[in-house]
Amino acid sequence: MSSKHYDLIAIGGGSGGLSAAERAATHGARCAVVEAGRIGGTCVNVGCVPKKVMWFAGSIAHTLRDAADYGFDVRSGGLDWGRLVAARERYIGNINTWYHGYLKDSGIDEIRGHARFLDSRTLEVEGERYSADHIVIAPGAVPRLPSIPGAELGITSDGFFALQAQPRKVAVVGAGYIAVELAGVLQALGSEVTLVIRREHVLDGFDALLRETLLEVMQDEGIQVVTNTTLTAVERSDDGLRLHCDHGTELAGFDSLIWAIGRDPATADLNLEAAGVETDANGFIPTDPFENTNVPGIYAVGDVTGRIALTPVAIAAARRLATRLFGGRPELRLDYENVPTVVFSHPPVGTVGLTEAQALERFGPQSVKCYQTSFTPMYAALTSHPSPTAMKLVTVGAQEKVVGVHIIGLGADEMLQGFAVALKMGATKADLDNTVALHPTSAEELVTMR
Ligand SMILES: Cc1cc2nc3c(=O)[nH]c(=O)nc-3n(C[C@H](O)[C@H](O)[C@H](O)COP(=O)(O)OP(=O)(O)OC[C@H]3O[C@@H](n4cnc5c(N)ncnc54)[C@H](O)[C@@H]3O)c2cc1C
Repeated sequence: MSSKHYDLIAIGGGSGGLSAAERAATHGARCAVVEAGRIGGTCVNVGCVPKKVMWFAGSIAHTLRDAADYGFDVRSGGLDWGRLVAARERYIGNINTWYHGYLKDSGIDEIRGHARFLDSRTLEVEGERYSADHIVIAPGAVPRLPSIPGAELGITSDGFFALQAQPRKVAVVGAGYIAVELAGVLQALGSEVTLVIRREHVLDGFDALLRETLLEVMQDEGIQVVTNTTLTAVERSDDGLRLHCDHGTELAGFDSLIWAIGRDPATADLNLEAAGVETDANGFIPTDPFENTNVPGIYAVGDVTGRIALTPVAIAAARRLATRLFGGRPELRLDYENVPTVVFSHPPVGTVGLTEAQALERFGPQSVKCYQTSFTPMYAALTSHPSPTAMKLVTVGAQEKVVGVHIIGLGADEMLQGFAVALKMGATKADLDNTVALHPTSAEELVTMR
């Protein structure tokens, strides 16, 4: 078997792999990307992109609902789910096509199939061998199913995006951002939604203000939230799916069950042992701050590392890695501190930096001062479904350096990016106060808080 040699091969044509190859190629490296599924990876095909399209649809449903309060005589004829899904998939198909062309134009070889290591420099894909001086492992992660009887009767986020009809009554299991996003979208689009969570709150690790406000709004919107509950079995009965809970209770009558309980690294079939690449107990590939694995010349970026699982993080890590390897910047690496995050719930959440609890733990109560506000945004003040906006600034020290910005409410998603820049630059509360407000907006509260 002959083997084709490259400067860099990326395993996975998702956010991380594509970015590593694309950036390395701009520095003159000969690159290839191996992709077993659809080009673009999770984000494009079964993640951020289709999710955001569905979120827009949910937001339109809310706008239609609110229109009457603004004096419009609008009657919604209902959602044609099939039409929405077809439009969404057409859009994604165009992105896939664009990527194929982009790789070709950039001189990056696209190798179709499943990559597995033969040794630390060689991969096998569909019976062919490919070798490289540098191999970037970026296969992402896959949704997890629980090990309980009947788990296979449920679907995951992948299955949600494959739904050709809208579920009438659906249970979403999980408390992370994917769970609250899917629950919010389905509720906004008219499904009857039950959210089953293991503890009392959603969005573990987020500031309490965001967690509590979101849970309240979800319940106000009609989502039935079942707390402190773990499912022990699922069965199909005459009235649909029946969920058995750990307290001996049952939830019944669902035509759809969505598991959103976490994602596992896609490392099982890579034959990492042949290359000597270590994984942790959960299968994630540990990396140093420069994205190196334990084997020289082999790197890992994106969800497979178990670090912050977001597309812009995978992209930024991969680009810096490629420039470090081929662009003459040996010091370059991604700073994983203060990465902003948005949750596309209804309403959206935007967060960057430390939560109040984290700041208190790190700096102590004497040093931490928080500013907080909750209000009804002007848009919602006229509607019969007034959804609140809440904001918190976490500051530390005599200078009141801003170390956390937390927002929930209409526009939080678009509001956060600029404040993340300010936080990253070391802004103080006085810097925010010295900035003239934009009026009338919700964002102005962030520079006028007392
Ligand atoms: C429902 C959902 C919503 C999300 N929403 C957001 C969001 O709003 N914002 C955000 O920033 N992030 C979001 N994410 C997370 C984001 O999609 C991931 O963080 C990102 O895609 C990670 O990029 P990656 O390169 O690590 O992996 P992926 O994008 O998953 O790409 C990995 C690719 O590798 C391929 N592959 C795997 N194994 C092999 C192999 N052995 N050989 C060849 N190919 C292989 C896979 O087919 C896949 O295409 C969301 C994720 C989900 C599931």
